[in-house]
Amino acid sequence: MARVYNFSSGPAALPEPVLAQVADELLEWRDAGCSVMEMSHRGAAFTSIIEAAEADLRALLAVPDHYKVLFLQGGATQQFAQIPMNLLAGGRADYFVTGAWSRKAVREAQQIAAAIGGDVRLAASTEADGFRRFLRPKEIRIDPRAAYAHVCTNETIHGVECSDVAPFLTAGVPLVADMSSHILSRRIDVSDYGMIYAGAQKNIGPSGLVIVIVREDLLDRAWPGTPSVMSYRSMADNGSMLNTPPTFAIYVSGLVFRWLRDQGGLEAIEQVNRAKAERLYHFIDTSGFYINEVEVSARSLMNIPFRLKDESLNAAFLAGADEAGLAQLKGHKSVGGMRASIYNAMPLAGVEALVDYMGAFARQHA
Ligand SMILES: *Cc1c(COP(=O)(O)O)cnc(C)c1O
Repeated sequence: MARVYNFSSGPAALPEPVLAQVADELLEWRDAGCSVMEMSHRGAAFTSIIEAAEADLRALLAVPDHYKVLFLQGGATQQFAQIPMNLLAGGRADYFVTGAWSRKAVREAQQIAAAIGGDVRLAASTEADGFRRFLRPKEIRIDPRAAYAHVCTNETIHGVECSDVAPFLTAGVPLVADMSSHILSRRIDVSDYGMIYAGAQKNIGPSGLVIVIVREDLLDRAWPGTPSVMSYRSMADNGSMLNTPPTFAIYVSGLVFRWLRDQGGLEAIEQVNRAKAERLYHFIDTSGFYINEVEVSARSLMNIPFRLKDESLNAAFLAGADEAGLAQLKGHKSVGGMRASIYNAMPLAGVEALVDYMGAFARQHA
């Protein structure tokens, strides 16, 4: 077996000890007589699995008691539609666009608002600057009467991260954040947010699961036509089990939460993540051969897009990387170039191996 260093943006690498435990428990989970995939979601065994997953997630993020944690299906993209259904209530929402994902979110929300009533406003965008920076504080103006404001705090494709949400909080409007690609990568204050959501397949676990953390007072604003499986209230009242939840994905995610706890929690993983990102950015900036165009203050710790100054070498770069066991470095098709996604499961050694390869490739083609 030869596991590579996997720089995929998602579905992404998982911690090896988690995969080993999954393999170990695959045929029979503890003394259940079957695998997690084969057991009733309402039985005692799975109940203990989902309860432990929720408790560990709450502990990692210090989620206050007046927030519900939901384990849902449909991915973050489905949330783009569910959020206005549940929170807009015929009112107005302010959306901030800082990359490809938040641009999708606002378009979807506008489509829903056109159908159910309400006004989704594009409050500010950095698209004119090629999504190479985050918003300046003075660009962050929120209507105090808005039902909510929406932001993507880490743009997976453009490699732009929000490092300070304080400017979003002054209007006192519930802030809804798409944290799909950096949840659990560093400490946050959950009470800054009305709602946090994240597709699991970047920094948590397998695809097919999206985590929603929502303040209880926001549960009763849904458009009356909201389907019950899309209603935060009905999912919250049914412990995320109005229908069958993605049981295996919840189980694996729970093991990742436990792994994170064993690493020392978010403070510890944040230190590792900062060291990893600094290593790669510093190398790129001083290489003379590679370039990252994101403004320094907005650079993501998780997704690092970069280009070769001589793009005619792209194919050779990727072929050599594959040969060296460094996989999935090709950038998103909308931006081209390369991208290294270095989520929690990527060890510092993986980043060192990437930097070594990039250095050798540069010397060879200088
Ligand atoms: C991947 C991603 C999404 C979409 O997630 P799906 O689970 O594929 O719907 C949305 N937002 C961000 C920031 C992402 O990285």
